[in-house]
Amino acid sequence: GQCVAVCPTGALTVKSEIDRAWSAIHDPAKTVVVQIAPAVRVALGEEFGLAAGSAVTGKIVAALKKMGVDRVFDTLIAADLTTIEESMEFMSRMENGGKLPLFTSCCPGWIKYCEQMHGELLENLSSCRSPQQMFGSLVKKHYAKKIGKTSGEVVCISVMPCTAKKFEAQRPEFTTDGVYDVDIVLTTVELAQMIKEAGLVFDDLEPAGFDNPLGMGSGGALIFGASGGVMESVVRFVSGYLGGPEVGRVDYHPARGIEGIKEAAVTVKDKTLKVAVVNGLANAENLLQRIKNGEADYHLVEVMACPGGCVGGGGQPDANDTAARVQRLKSIYRLDAVEQVHKAQDNVYVNKIINEWLQGPGSHAAHHDLHTGYVHRRRITGKPMEITGDAGNGQV
Ligand code: SF4
Repeated sequence: GQCVAVCPTGALTVKSEIDRAWSAIHDPAKTVVVQIAPAVRVALGEEFGLAAGSAVTGKIVAALKKMGVDRVFDTLIAADLTTIEESMEFMSRMENGGKLPLFTSCCPGWIKYCEQMHGELLENLSSCRSPQQMFGSLVKKHYAKKIGKTSGEVVCISVMPCTAKKFEAQRPEFTTDGVYDVDIVLTTVELAQMIKEAGLVFDDLEPAGFDNPLGMGSGGALIFGASGGVMESVVRFVSGYLGGPEVGRVDYHPARGIEGIKEAAVTVKDKTLKVAVVNGLANAENLLQRIKNGEADYHLVEVMACPGGCVGGGGQPDANDTAARVQRLKSIYRLDAVEQVHKAQDNVYVNKIINEWLQGPGSHAAHHDLHTGYVHRRRITGKPMEITGDAGNGQV
């Protein structure tokens, strides 16, 4: 399946993603690692008759191990890295008069929309890669070496609530030594299909834990799966960063909920931050027009293309309706509530990775491996028109 995975045009993608995943798993020459996005674990159970929002993290890990995957990791570790990198970028822009508002960049549906429809906003986008792509970069540039493999010998499979993540993974800048950082993107529904094909009885699976060093995330990373989660994670990080360890637990309720547009002001130490959280591209367009017309003014805006955020993504089980999305949102915040590690900076594995793999916070390696640039695309042809920012490895 590897020749298919490295085809940059997608012209050779004749096999389904499921077939390619099985080929990789059955190929003894490949080490297969999987990452699982937060919204998947509160939805996949619905494919097996469980109530919407049932949390089935441990059963998903167990299923993947029984299917023959070598390492089951968690996208949460990369979401924590995203929180740290994006918060540092945000605070630097605030202090140095940089472009504001800063828009989040985790959602490829939003990024593509912005590149096609709002070229004037590209410099407002955070340069942070999405958690999926930060994870892929860590695996191909660092983890592969750590286990004595080349980037081509390790196959990185993502399980995402999202169909847009499939084209994000094929952006040419997200490669290492000529191979994609993320080789295969499966949706929640596609993974459920594979579990069925493997003949596993979901009900009977004994929960298992993620592998390390890429298997641990904070509660702040878990809530990336819900609209408002990235914003709340940044608020948690900044509160701790500026306020010190005595800040303790920070829950930021104004960011939560299914509403299309949420606005709030949050005061951290002596700074008041005006923030907005949007889900759905029509709501995003509405907010952008209000900003343009001078009717609204923010420092930080989170945009997710799907209703309710990633819990309502296009790769999630049916019925993907408001009732199901609300149950999945509630489940994500319940999982967060019992996490002992609440803020990204308290994740010991993230700190180890920053110091040991990325040569410390704010290093050239961190910038190269975790950030990217954007391209103003013609709406019809999709051809690049101009490049802004640092494109990471310069391959835009
Ligand atoms: Fe994908 Fe939707 Fe989440 Fe955006 S909001 S990353 S399109 S699932």
